[in-house]
Amino acid sequence: MKKKLALLMTGLLVTSMFAGCGKSTKNEVTDTNGVVESVDNNTESKELSADIVVIGAGGAGMTAAIQAAQDGATNVVVLEKMPITGGNTTRSTGGLNAAETKFQEAQGIEDSVELFIQDTMTGGKDLNDINLVTTLAQNSAAAVDWINGIGGDLAVVAMFGGASVERIHRPSDTSAVGPMLVNTLNKKMEELNIPVLTNTEATKINLDEAGKVASVTAKDADGEFTIDCKSVVLATGGFAGNIEMVTKYNAEYSKFMNTNHAGATGDGIVMAEAIGADLVDMDQIQIHPTVDMETQTLYTEGVRGNGAILVNLEGKRFVNELLTRDVVSAAILEQPEAYAYMVFDQKVRESLSAIEKYINSGLALEADTLEELADKMGVDKDSFVQTMTTYAEAVANGEDKECGRTSLDQDLTTSKFYALKSAPANHHTMGGVKIDTTAQVINKDGNAIPGLYAAGEVTGGVHGANRLGGNAVADIVVFGRIAGTSANEYVQANGGNTEATIVVEKEEAPATPEVDGNYKDGTYTGTGKGNGGDIVVEVKVEGGNVVAVTLTEVHETPGIYEAAEKSVVDAIIRTQSTDVDTVTGATNSSKGIMEAVANALEQAK
Ligand code: ADP
Repeated sequence: MKKKLALLMTGLLVTSMFAGCGKSTKNEVTDTNGVVESVDNNTESKELSADIVVIGAGGAGMTAAIQAAQDGATNVVVLEKMPITGGNTTRSTGGLNAAETKFQEAQGIEDSVELFIQDTMTGGKDLNDINLVTTLAQNSAAAVDWINGIGGDLAVVAMFGGASVERIHRPSDTSAVGPMLVNTLNKKMEELNIPVLTNTEATKINLDEAGKVASVTAKDADGEFTIDCKSVVLATGGFAGNIEMVTKYNAEYSKFMNTNHAGATGDGIVMAEAIGADLVDMDQIQIHPTVDMETQTLYTEGVRGNGAILVNLEGKRFVNELLTRDVVSAAILEQPEAYAYMVFDQKVRESLSAIEKYINSGLALEADTLEELADKMGVDKDSFVQTMTTYAEAVANGEDKECGRTSLDQDLTTSKFYALKSAPANHHTMGGVKIDTTAQVINKDGNAIPGLYAAGEVTGGVHGANRLGGNAVADIVVFGRIAGTSANEYVQANGGNTEATIVVEKEEAPATPEVDGNYKDGTYTGTGKGNGGDIVVEVKVEGGNVVAVTLTEVHETPGIYEAAEKSVVDAIIRTQSTDVDTVTGATNSSKGIMEAVANALEQAK
């Protein structure tokens, strides 16, 4: 059997120990391209096995794996089809909705589990499964504590669309929640030695004759293989990135662009349905109101939450910007050209670090005066200035007669002024696999499929007809933890822990030159353009070869650029060339590093 293994993005080696014919055959992994390696296993090798196979290394999957390990599971393996972990979770910008937390208490915010349930049901048009919503709300404060307890940072509470009170918990530096979360989960996975097989796509869940989970079929670049297991946690995310599936379940949404990463293709839903799982609310697809039409960059709801307003091409406001995503999206689609500008001032810019990224990426129009901004937006100057004046008065009076907005903290009068062109795009698929409150997957007859659990966007029922901002992260942490606990309980009730066959080895494999470089010895600095701005590198040449590349300045998304850094830098050192492969999912970061090294090496010729 030939089997390909993958390097975890942290650079750790994932090695399999095949227990075949009474002996262990250890398969070394050598790094040629920084990401994936192939290993020939001898013919004596048995199939791989694990107690729990988690499919998908996004927020829900990694949370489930960690919680299972914390509960005592010793043989957990995570499969991830992309080269890096994180999925859509990395793109998540808002935060985690939680009620009755110590952070709310410290800020004097009066909230309750009941109010959280009520807001979520109202936001979801009462289509949600009330039992799942109750579980979500009841476990939300513990989810915040859990993330903080494993090294995360959710300490600031803010206002978000659809919430009656300040409930969304965010990183204290006001940065986007996703990268913080994925970094935290990656680190904890590493600490707990939980292997992640990247570039490995699960294709099938296999049941035994009794209908219990028995194994997972997966494939990588070397072909198909099977991992025997007792339990599976399905955490493959949603299907908004799969236009055929979107069209199949709700053709109305096929016209929109989408905000999802390439791996959001609904695989888990297809795999679960194939073994009899029930699906719920599959036609419920959420469009996010504020997405850049060219780059598909999603502008977090926090921009509006922190004060921005929406202005149409006539220079007028048209909606309470803090209503739920479906309402705001529908309102934008009714405007001329079906897009709008999100307008804010310097104070709002300074209140949210996510905005810095949009501005650094060149996405924002900016101007010293409102008149100049109107020109750049191509809207009527007088009408726009009047809109801004009326809004400033509304903030001063504490009453927005025009659109009924109640959160009126920023009068938007401090130069500079900014505008982000925004239109709705497919964002989240609310429907998915049916689960109960213990995250067991339920089949079409209403019975649990023994050993199968699911969490996160792959599931349906938590969000009903519309997901509130902040509830996806609450969902992945709350139900990810429940799925991990349930899967471990199932394993313990069905024979207990077994020895791991796929293990993480804590060895770094530093790259060494494989060809001669022919550069002048010395240390050189170079700059390249990444996703979030300039990337500055220091390149060390010794004996004519590039021997080290250090990123000294970087504004890329944490959780993504590290994979590019490891892979691209290793490849540059090995090949002594800056023309190397980019990392899927981190293309711009990869290119930025290459450009920076190429610029540095110009001085070394
Ligand atoms: P959630 O928010 O529910 O955790 P994410 O989108 O963050 O969802 O993560 C889901 C992860 O599952 C992604 O990293 C995605 O690439 C991965 N994934 C999707 N389908 C498969 C599959 N067939 N095999 C392995 N991983 C998968």
